[in-house]
Amino acid sequence: SDKKAVVLVPGKINPRVLERLEGKVEIVTVPAGAEPVLPEGAAERINAIAVSGVVNAKWIDALPKLEIIANFGVGYDGVDAKHAATRGVVVTNTPDVLNDEVADTTIALLINTVRRLYQAETWLRDGKWVGEGPFALSPFSLRGRKVGLFGMGRIGQEIAKRLEPFKVEIGYHTRSKRDELSYTYYGSLKEMAETVDTLICIVPGTPETHKAINADVLTALGPEGVFINVGRGSSVDEDALLEALKSGALGAAGLDVFYAEPKVPEAFLSLPNVSLLPHVASASVPTRNAMADLVADNILGWFRDRKVLTPVPETPVKA
Ligand code: NDP
Repeated sequence: SDKKAVVLVPGKINPRVLERLEGKVEIVTVPAGAEPVLPEGAAERINAIAVSGVVNAKWIDALPKLEIIANFGVGYDGVDAKHAATRGVVVTNTPDVLNDEVADTTIALLINTVRRLYQAETWLRDGKWVGEGPFALSPFSLRGRKVGLFGMGRIGQEIAKRLEPFKVEIGYHTRSKRDELSYTYYGSLKEMAETVDTLICIVPGTPETHKAINADVLTALGPEGVFINVGRGSSVDEDALLEALKSGALGAAGLDVFYAEPKVPEAFLSLPNVSLLPHVASASVPTRNAMADLVADNILGWFRDRKVLTPVPETPVKA
């Protein structure tokens, strides 16, 4: 048709999304926020949202002509997909194109945490190698570890594959066992935490996974235990994590995601046994470009012939 679709972009998004959409749709940018704030007359014209952040029920209900929400990222816990489904609004995410990048980063974070490489580099950069001598030996090693993955989906499986050549034992906990995989399956997170000494969290942020990694789980990993989070900060009881790291009940943690990010509790910064990243697991130019293309292609496909590449399970659409 000759009338261009109107796409709302609340807050910041990768510029390539806008470049890809430019000229093909009309773009309306607004500040991000829990409450919808829109220019005069815009609400009745919006047909799509491209977002890296929050789209709650209030936003969805404020837009009577909304057809599709294209989320930048595979995790779409910021989008109320269940509510979108009740309104017949399609939600898409960006699966698969980031699996390898996120899995690579996870391995890097694991090794950084276990071998304290960040602190070691800081030692060199601060001139202490010359002044004070060699950096202290890392208390832990990856050698002989038993690793348990909480989550064994698209990304979890790539992490597991990468762990194989490191000669560690590999197991996982999910709600349903994957019979095609040879890794050890654990029926509960607690049972897995009692058996392994290294836990990697790569589950989505959902009501079910909310604070699933609690004091019990962290303590079960033990004083030599290592916890790595590349899933969502909401899956962890952060107070319990801080307490376990301070007391030594847990050995170390490597975190890419936080409960109230970008705010990171001050207490983490002074701990020697943590490695902290600002949610960068997929954050390379090539991978973010691939994600941006998928966001744009979902929107353009929808308005071309009502086809999307990657709908989420809550809002299925025939390809
Ligand atoms: P998938 O949907 O492919 O896999 C999710 C896995 O989690 C499945 O194995 C699923 O198994 C398991 N799972 C879900 N709910 C539960 C539960 N309640 N208890 C136990 N296991 C559960 O997702 P992806 O691998 O593509 O991505 C996973 C998540 O990683 C994303 O949702 C996102 O939040 C996060 N992520 C973080 C990034 C970062 O920058 N740090 C980058 C990319 C992703 P089952 O259904 O059998 O339980």
